[in-house]
Amino acid sequence: LLQLSVPLNFIGFVYREIRQGLTDIEQMFDLLEVEAEVVDHPDARPLDIHQGAIAFRDVHFSYDPERPILKGISFDVPAGKTVAIVGPSGAGKSTISRLLYRFYDVQKGAITIDGQDIREVTQKSLRAAIGMVPQDTVLFNDTIAYNIRYGRPSATEEEVHAAAEVAQIGSFIESLPHGYETMVGERGLKLSGGEKQRVAIARTILKAPPILILDEATSALDTTTEHEIQAALDVVSKNRTTLVIAHRLSTVINADEIIVLRDGGIAERGTHADLLAQDGLYASMWNRQREATQAEEHLRKVRESD
Ligand code: ADP
Ligand code: MG
Repeated sequence: LLQLSVPLNFIGFVYREIRQGLTDIEQMFDLLEVEAEVVDHPDARPLDIHQGAIAFRDVHFSYDPERPILKGISFDVPAGKTVAIVGPSGAGKSTISRLLYRFYDVQKGAITIDGQDIREVTQKSLRAAIGMVPQDTVLFNDTIAYNIRYGRPSATEEEVHAAAEVAQIGSFIESLPHGYETMVGERGLKLSGGEKQRVAIARTILKAPPILILDEATSALDTTTEHEIQAALDVVSKNRTTLVIAHRLSTVINADEIIVLRDGGIAERGTHADLLAQDGLYASMWNRQREATQAEEHLRKVRESD
């Protein structure tokens, strides 16, 4: 009994880490040789993706039956468009991304991609079609080149370097004594949150998936890093069906639709201009963030003039 309890506890630990960080789930499962919570339907077919249009239809979900998280959410991400999900912390934004990646199954309603219910396709094909840039990227204890190439193992060295350039991390890597062969992760060079996120973006650029999920970092990145990351994300999401979970509203101004999530439901939806005109929750979030940014800038100017 003792012997068994240790690895099970370990697996439980890793699961929680995965759930929270949305790390590299495919590799983690390969590594552990364990099944995810959801299993393929016996007749599961590969996802037949032609455009990458996503639909959420009356989606209900709770982690714990006593506490519903999503209470009937419906929205579309048309092929090639960008939809942003915003809302207070704990509203269920990351849960939406976990359901699309099928870490969990919906309890009522359905999620479809090009008209196919994601419960009826193989998980492998589903996850091959989706690129995820998580809030917190966990790197493998390997070289930076390996970590980028993980997006498409057959990629050439030139392709790895080109992806790093687009992700705005190429010159940083080249400045390291061992360049692309630098060991990173727990036992190697510790990268900052912004650097790790750009490695994840480079990986996603190589993967070139038809669907993208971006869960933007909450951590206070400095303005320059934020602009660089935003520029990289704009390149990746161009002409791809993109679901972006945004903490900083300045990054969603150009989204085709913005969905404001609150208390498990959609409180408001529309373009940035529509939502400002509604003068509701989004407008108050926008004003609050703008004031915070102005205060930050003011502080910086005061410090600079000292
Ligand atoms: P957001 O991304 O909007 O901040 P999440 O989707 O991560 O919110 O979480 C929504 C709610 O679900 C939160 O109250 C959170 O505590 C809860 N939650 C998230 N993950 C789990 C889990 N694995 N088990 C139980 N509750 C969870
Ligand atoms: Mg979240």
